[in-house]
Amino acid sequence: MSFEDIPVPIGPVYEGERIRAKQMYVELGGPKMKKHFELCKVVDKKEITDGQVTIHGIDLKDMEEGSTHPIGILVEVTGPELEVDLEAVFERRVHEFCNFVNGIMHLNQRYTNWLRISKTAVEKGFNSFQLLGAVLIRLYKAELPIIEQAQVTFFTNEKEIEKPYTMAMEIYDKRDERARTIHDEDVDMFYGCVLCQSFAPTHACCITPDRTSLCGSINWFDARAAAKVDPKGPLYEVPPGECLDPLAGEYTGVNEMIKKRSLGEINRIFLFSGMEFPHTSCGCFEAIDFYIPEVNGHGIIDRNYGDVAINGLPFSAMANQTGGGKQMPGFNGISIQYIISPKYQQYDGISQGLNSGIETVVWMNKGVKDRIGDFLPKDLLPKIATEEEVTDINALKQWLQDVDHPILATWAEALAEEEEEEEEWEAEGAMVPMGTMGMTIPGVGGAGGFKVILKNCKVVAEAIIIKKIEPKGRKKK
Ligand code: SF4
Ligand code: ZN
Repeated sequence: MSFEDIPVPIGPVYEGERIRAKQMYVELGGPKMKKHFELCKVVDKKEITDGQVTIHGIDLKDMEEGSTHPIGILVEVTGPELEVDLEAVFERRVHEFCNFVNGIMHLNQRYTNWLRISKTAVEKGFNSFQLLGAVLIRLYKAELPIIEQAQVTFFTNEKEIEKPYTMAMEIYDKRDERARTIHDEDVDMFYGCVLCQSFAPTHACCITPDRTSLCGSINWFDARAAAKVDPKGPLYEVPPGECLDPLAGEYTGVNEMIKKRSLGEINRIFLFSGMEFPHTSCGCFEAIDFYIPEVNGHGIIDRNYGDVAINGLPFSAMANQTGGGKQMPGFNGISIQYIISPKYQQYDGISQGLNSGIETVVWMNKGVKDRIGDFLPKDLLPKIATEEEVTDINALKQWLQDVDHPILATWAEALAEEEEEEEEWEAEGAMVPMGTMGMTIPGVGGAGGFKVILKNCKVVAEAIIIKKIEPKGRKKK
């Protein structure tokens, strides 16, 4: 495979490239645009002209510097072994392959896709979607040899994108609908995905019927199909092994998988908790489940929400806290589909005496509530506040009491625990209250290094203490 005719270098080495607003020539999709998408479809050989790139709307070179445009990317592929179940996993590779291009930053997926093209790339001659299409087609065929032929179509204006956008949304809905038909107990195999390790090296997704991948784009059926055709690829089988705790969703096989894939960094995962041994989060989660200590409840914010959440933090600030492959109790990257699973964070709710995990949710931005409201318990739905009802924690507290939210039942115990913890903290000065994180970064050869303590980080870290550790035997006199 050659990219000699492409005016910018291409390769996995450019995957982590960030393009800031000042460096960008144009922005495509993203939170400022209403309708945008990327979709992969497996089609019949007759419907494809191999290598063809079509542009509906204006091309890159005709876009004004600094402007933002809709973007639709439709990748159509064919091959005798291809099946519809592979579409979602192929589609997820748009992210990776676009990021191979030096001068393109691609974020997210499905209808939240967001691209920036750098000024430098355009100056070098990367000024047409024809070039991007050609790169995608070559990479698809080279990296996924079961794809025999491919064509790519771009949609770059509001009128042209309308129809394919509607089609894409219908296809995403169908995939999600199907995923809701099965549960973890119906299957004897889970799946893992490490596609995001180039950005978050200790992150690996565990995909089960009840826990759709946090990017929202790969469900259990999709993962199964991908692992079948390419068992050595980025999606692979995870035999669940023994279930150590059905409420938490802790399995020996999942623990072994994360230990291996995080290179020993993470040893345990509770699939159904955001508070104890939570699933790691990379950076492309659709939403965040965050703990609100003042009401012992949880909030949910999705990445389309531009304002601050009930805890005063915008999505971007919480995303920094959540992502990067860390295991961060109180901040958990999730897919929208997972919220409507009956197992949603069930450990956090049921272990406190509630009926389910969803009963811990006290706030979600209206966009999320509108999308999944139909699937939530009818009696709980009106008790979950949005930005339209309350905008600060005090008002939220009052609201929860007024609507008699189930979380009230946990308050007496949670508050008593908190007081106890605070007393211990004050009395001993060295106890670690909930949410405080400590980690040691060893020096070369394991000697010395630094200790990083994130103190009182229930919502935000109030202090980061970096202490030099004197190696043993080298103490200053
Ligand atoms: Fe794979 Fe998870 Fe990344 Fe989605 S978020 S691409 S499932 S690693
Ligand atoms: Zn990711």
